[in-house]
Amino acid sequence: AAPLAIVRGTGAAADSGIVMRTGEAFQTFRLVRRIALDKTGTLTVGRPTVRAVEAVDGDVGELLRLAAAAEAHSEHPLARAIEAAAHARGLAVGEAAEFTSLTGSGVRARVDGRAVLVGRPGLLTEEGIDTSALAARIDQLQAAGHTVIAVAVDTTALGVIALGDELRPDAAEAVAAMRRIGLEPIMVTGDNEPAARRIAARLGITRIHAEVRPADKAAIVRELQDGGTRVAMVGDGINDAPALMQADVGIAAGGGTDITVESADIVLLHGEVAAVLQARDISRRSYGRTR
Ligand code: ADP
Ligand code: MG
Repeated sequence: AAPLAIVRGTGAAADSGIVMRTGEAFQTFRLVRRIALDKTGTLTVGRPTVRAVEAVDGDVGELLRLAAAAEAHSEHPLARAIEAAAHARGLAVGEAAEFTSLTGSGVRARVDGRAVLVGRPGLLTEEGIDTSALAARIDQLQAAGHTVIAVAVDTTALGVIALGDELRPDAAEAVAAMRRIGLEPIMVTGDNEPAARRIAARLGITRIHAEVRPADKAAIVRELQDGGTRVAMVGDGINDAPALMQADVGIAAGGGTDITVESADIVLLHGEVAAVLQARDISRRSYGRTR
């Protein structure tokens, strides 16, 4: 009976943009009690925009120009936002060389022969760059709910770029619905803790893991599986792939990147977080009918 249930479930699911890639996870979903949700691109729309640019020496154009050049080869949504802001200001963004992506942290590249580092503030500190001139503004911008990125050239901190993203319109209702059916929502994000808290509060999420490096997302899922608790994980980024594999039910949101899709049991083509609930419903109803 199980394969029939899967076929029937899969057919109904396809109409709502839900693709079931594996049978087991589909069967397991009705047993899931905790759901780990990536913030950016899952609970938010994943199209951040630049809200503020602040340079220590006041030259915000130069800061944005260097950052945009360094980000040109990055696939991260934050990179696209920085590029768009540079273009909107009519800046002539030059070419970068020796590009390196530091997944979950930022990027490094050479622009006009200078070493440019763009990423989470902690990345600069880890590289031995003094960020004390930025500290107060970083705290304020993060407390206001922004994702804050710091920019350094050679060994000097140049300033910060603050970005924001909109919540998905269906996110708060989906989170409330999860609670009603006994699914505990947990936010897992690489973003800074104050911003994550602020966004979580607007969604009614109280349990948060912030500033999580990509390698640690899977470990958090494993912790949530404590005592045999079944855990689903929803994410959209390449860095979510190991966590999707670790989860009892791995769900790629927003169509997913290739690697995310390969690691997922379920793919949500339209990316609405509410589709997670539909997928669970289909799993429950299919198994209810065939057992
Ligand atoms: P999320 O969990 O929100 O998807 P990531 O793990 O991708 O976050 O990134 C964590 C943090 O690292 C971001 O909030 C940002 O500060 C920094 N970061 C990651 N990629 C980039 C990039 N390409 N440019 C600048 N900063 C980045
Ligand atoms: Mg993400």
